[in-house]
Amino acid sequence: MHRFFIPPELLKETGIDITLPKEQAHHIRDVLRLNIDEQLLLLDNSGGEILAAIAKIGKTGVEVRLIERRPGKNEPAVCIILCQGLLKSARFEWILEKGTELGVSVFAPILCRRSMAGLEDAGPSKLQRWQRIIQEAAEQSGRSHLPELLPMQPLMHALNDIPPGALAIMPWEEEHSRTLHDVLTSAGNVGRQIIAPKTVAKIHLPTIVLFIGPEGGLMAEEVMLAQRHGVQIVTLGSRILRAETAALTAVANVMYELDR
Ligand code: SAH
Repeated sequence: MHRFFIPPELLKETGIDITLPKEQAHHIRDVLRLNIDEQLLLLDNSGGEILAAIAKIGKTGVEVRLIERRPGKNEPAVCIILCQGLLKSARFEWILEKGTELGVSVFAPILCRRSMAGLEDAGPSKLQRWQRIIQEAAEQSGRSHLPELLPMQPLMHALNDIPPGALAIMPWEEEHSRTLHDVLTSAGNVGRQIIAPKTVAKIHLPTIVLFIGPEGGLMAEEVMLAQRHGVQIVTLGSRILRAETAALTAVANVMYELDR
């Protein structure tokens, strides 16, 4: 069933007909060519979903009947905050799309010493494009919460902002023994008592903060600084991965260990 995030104020009550925003109306009428009575799911980013059916398709707009609200099912049981050293735009966008599919809750682009110059002043149109990629991936993968995209910040700020109780992990290719599995499964590291940051969750979930370096990698000083902030340094295996491969591998492995 097709899924669309729409502004929450349109979804306050069920049993009524509403007019969809232009963009979704266009998509339903001209791209998907759906018909009257076909059902779809509308999302308001609350964690729930609203079953709806197309009531009217006209040149000026599309109306849908809101049938019932029900709980969304596809949010992970772990909150992942992905702090990603800034990359070339196309690769960063790939991380946003695939990370959303895999269940990342927060994307935090970070500036590292070896981040490519020029990306730090991504303007509003770039941010809008990134939000859109996240929204489309969330709709496609059936999520009921949109992952949050934080403004760009230096690594130091992200380290200072690690939520209390979260487990922070930095994969680094110079680490050769400690694995992600070791850190995630060692007693006491990840318990239900860990609390998600206010921004993300109304419910308390175990929270993992992942720090992935940019294309040029992390400098030893940055890794040391992270360690001083309680970040655990791990290996993702003996081969050197590109930054986007490292990010998605780390996310997928955290999901494998902790999502249920
Ligand atoms: N330029 C560096 C590699 C950077 S890879 C070099 O060629 O040596 C980009 C990021 O991916 C790194 O900062 C690290 O966070 C992560 N990464 C890549 N391979 C890894 C591995 N085998 N183990 C842990 N982290 C890895």
